[in-house]
Amino acid sequence: MANKIIAANWKMNLMRDEAVSLLEGLKNGIPENEKADIVIFPPSIYISDLISINDSQIEVGAQNFYFENKGAFTGEVSAIQLKDMGCTHVLIGHSERRELFDESNELLFKKIKSALHANIKIIYCCGESLQEREDGSHLMKIQSQLEILNSLTNNELNSISIAYEPIWAIGTGLTATPLQAEEMHAFIRRVLIDTFSKELASEISILYGGSCNENNANELFNCPNIDGGLIGGASLKVDSFLKIVDSIK
Ligand code: PEP
Repeated sequence: MANKIIAANWKMNLMRDEAVSLLEGLKNGIPENEKADIVIFPPSIYISDLISINDSQIEVGAQNFYFENKGAFTGEVSAIQLKDMGCTHVLIGHSERRELFDESNELLFKKIKSALHANIKIIYCCGESLQEREDGSHLMKIQSQLEILNSLTNNELNSISIAYEPIWAIGTGLTATPLQAEEMHAFIRRVLIDTFSKELASEISILYGGSCNENNANELFNCPNIDGGLIGGASLKVDSFLKIVDSIK
């Protein structure tokens, strides 16, 4: 069975004090026996501070890093440095990085290898544009984004979760319906079965992301192939995020 995961992508939001009080609120609100993995992805400048005050089960990940381990790469941080700080996860392939920062599949593959080398878990994001959904090429698009994983070993795949995030639903208030989301998640599971094995595919968590909030989380998380969520806007408020965490069974 795949782990249930609720991940919070804070993006480039919050001042330091706000980030600290958000984590404090989550620490107080998440039940001690919470079975889902809860991972926050704060802006990287706060990672160290947040880890130092975090005495809970909440894990802290990084939204971005560079694939080299060290050297003359001004402004960058590496996966081994993140690991050294106590980061457990990284996001790779988020549509904002693919689009705004021109991250190619070639670069994403190098980032995947680098995170695996550093022993950091990966949430690999994929998703189609509105045009691709409307012209019917959305399944093909996702399949092509998943191909990047094809050469990974079974052991490496144990460190990977997938987040399906339709670009048209990110930050727009438009959510995929449970039917649309489940159809895509079942498709992703099928691709993983065909590429690897049924056993391995059943162990890989597939998260939904795209305007997931406290009102729609329950219905989405009830779908058989949805193993949790990657939450943007709604993860910035303690109450909303706690309600989303509460929706996962
Ligand atoms: C995201 O960017 O990962 C995301 C899911 O954002 P939002 O929830 O705001 O759509």
